[in-house]
Amino acid sequence: MTNTIKDGPFCVDCRARKESRFCVNCQKETSNLFQVQIIETMRARESIGIKQKRQGFKGFIKKIFQGFKPSGDPQLSQGVDVQMIVDKEKNEYHHIVKNNLTGKILHEEHEKLTEHKPKK
Ligand SMILES: [Zn+2]
Repeated sequence: MTNTIKDGPFCVDCRARKESRFCVNCQKETSNLFQVQIIETMRARESIGIKQKRQGFKGFIKKIFQGFKPSGDPQLSQGVDVQMIVDKEKNEYHHIVKNNLTGKILHEEHEKLTEHKPKK
């Protein structure tokens, strides 16, 4: 089951919720930031995916995934707990994978996004 919630706009500078381009908090016109939340429920385990989009910016500026992922590895029968943050604004990439059964970290990456190379 997938639930998509679109929220916003928010001010890009102060992150306050706003109604139009004009931000009451900043007292000026600022860019709009939108947040798209995708909540997937599977086998009673939950994972959450969040994408932040900005007006005038192609694609997303920030992507977060957190939660359960199944694993094909028989050693990981309970699946894994994944935490992934892709931040184009800060140029950061974080990826942590834990064994759901033991809580042990299986994989950990903290890199600059521009230096991150996807595994082949
Ligand atoms: Zn503002």
